[in-house]
Amino acid sequence: MSGPRSVRAPRGTRPSALGWPQEAALRMLQNNLDPEVAEHPDQLVVYGGTGKAARDWRSFDAMVRTLRKLKQDETMLVQSGRPVGVMQTHEWAPRVLIANSHLVGDWATWEEFRRLEALGLTMYGQMTAGSWIYIGTQGILQGTYETFAAVAAKRFGGSLAGTITLTAGLGGMGGAQPLAVTMNGGVAICVDCDPRAVERRIEHRYLDVRADSLDHALRLATEARDARRPLSVGVLGNAAELVPRLHALGAPVDIVTDQTSAHDPLAYLPLGVAFDEMASCAAEDPADFTTRARESMARHVEAMVGFLDAGAEVFDYGNSLRGEARLAGYDRAFAFPGFVPAYIRPLFCEGKGPFRWVALSGDPADIARTDRAVLDLFPENESLARWIRMAGERVRFQGLPARICWLGYGERDRAGERFNDMVASGELSAPVVIGRDHLDCGSVASPYRETEAMLDGSDAIADWPLLNAMVNVASGASWVSVHHGGGVGIGRSIHAGQVTVADGTAPAGEKIRRVLTNDPGMGVIRHVDAGYDIAESVAAERGVRVPMREG
Ligand code: NAD
Repeated sequence: MSGPRSVRAPRGTRPSALGWPQEAALRMLQNNLDPEVAEHPDQLVVYGGTGKAARDWRSFDAMVRTLRKLKQDETMLVQSGRPVGVMQTHEWAPRVLIANSHLVGDWATWEEFRRLEALGLTMYGQMTAGSWIYIGTQGILQGTYETFAAVAAKRFGGSLAGTITLTAGLGGMGGAQPLAVTMNGGVAICVDCDPRAVERRIEHRYLDVRADSLDHALRLATEARDARRPLSVGVLGNAAELVPRLHALGAPVDIVTDQTSAHDPLAYLPLGVAFDEMASCAAEDPADFTTRARESMARHVEAMVGFLDAGAEVFDYGNSLRGEARLAGYDRAFAFPGFVPAYIRPLFCEGKGPFRWVALSGDPADIARTDRAVLDLFPENESLARWIRMAGERVRFQGLPARICWLGYGERDRAGERFNDMVASGELSAPVVIGRDHLDCGSVASPYRETEAMLDGSDAIADWPLLNAMVNVASGASWVSVHHGGGVGIGRSIHAGQVTVADGTAPAGEKIRRVLTNDPGMGVIRHVDAGYDIAESVAAERGVRVPMREG
């Protein structure tokens, strides 16, 4: 039987598969499990608690084998991380179709999911883990940077200089927080119970220093704040203990959030459990562990509400922490908002979201060239230019070189077509994969996160991500995925993703134009339908057709 081994995507300009779309899926599957990229590659876990790229090593091997032989008119079907069929389709059809973690409504609980997972019947796909377009912590960095920039604009005169942010969770996604805060000029105190997570963020230059104790962290943070010097400080410990302690101390914290893996109670360390015993405790008695984790989350959220009452800017960062605290009986859990309604929704109304691309060559120079192309395409967008320059200087690539930037309707297609032209002319040394997070404007139903507090109350309507996946299939994407549970946990979200390959051919250019128009177009129509004025103007100005507004 095949078991854990070290995986790394092939580099270079020659595909081993029968075409670049198949080769791209192959390289991206392997890239997701590169030890530089994945949080726990030996268990096939990429990020986000237990978000996996393949169900087991046998499934991984079967997918690699199948992708190598897959023809231009064939499609591989993946059911929760296992390849279950190859069907004859056609050249414009996706080469891979993926459905991960779905359960029928009444069965959609963690308990039932884990029962089926233990039987080997399913896996948790998170968002970009099981859909093979995770690019390391950079993938969330710009969104996190934009969120903190929005906080700065709302409360602190446009910069976080002279402020202290308190957060927890330095994992695959949460690890972006310290750098996003310092990029905005602020100081961050970041708690994590896993020494490896703290070390990894320092090694990857996302986190500046590690403090020896909470007092030490507070001293370093206040000194830097007084000097208006950006600094991020990691501190080892349990957030359910340290956040209440800081609140009791009256710590001068201006902003509070959290990105522990709270969406999965078995991935949140309860009070009274040592980090080293976390995995065995969770395996021994998952029900008791869940109760204890939820009670600890209630203490954690109670302290966050304490900071809110004291005047701090407090928000939920999309990990279900409030929902879990409420399940433990804490009735003020929803006293503070989620980050989407608080800061991000206006961007979604314009079809903006985390657009990303990866150089299949493995050559960082290819990304540098695409960076220049983006600066050249959108010269009027100053914040985009600032991001691209900062990312070029400060972001260390994990695995295949990649870039993320938030682009909207009418922008993503232009960037995609330019990249395809650059592959065609030889300016880029090999094809580029263009995709996005499932956390996007028109691809998610998630009432605790992307669709929290929609204007028309349509938070839990899940038709939108299904339409999104279908329109991407119909438009010519290279692989399309629909997942359940990512970000916020089983029973709480449905979301879709697409990846399209720019291989420099004319058909690829046609597909890119359609996919990268229709995919963000879903964000515009979703928000028009919910009654948002900004979306309505974007649709009118940029020609997005909405039948109910015509005639
Ligand atoms: P991860 O599993 O890689 O990291 C989670 C970290 O939390 C780990 O380092 C773990 O040691 C730490 N942790 C767990 N319990 C703790 C406790 N009690 N005290 C201190 N530290 C604790 O997960 P990730 O990929 O970083 O994602 C974090 C969360 O954010 C998930 O719930 C994920 O779904 C959510 N998420 C949010 C966004 C967003 O845009 N806001 C995007 C992706 C993921």
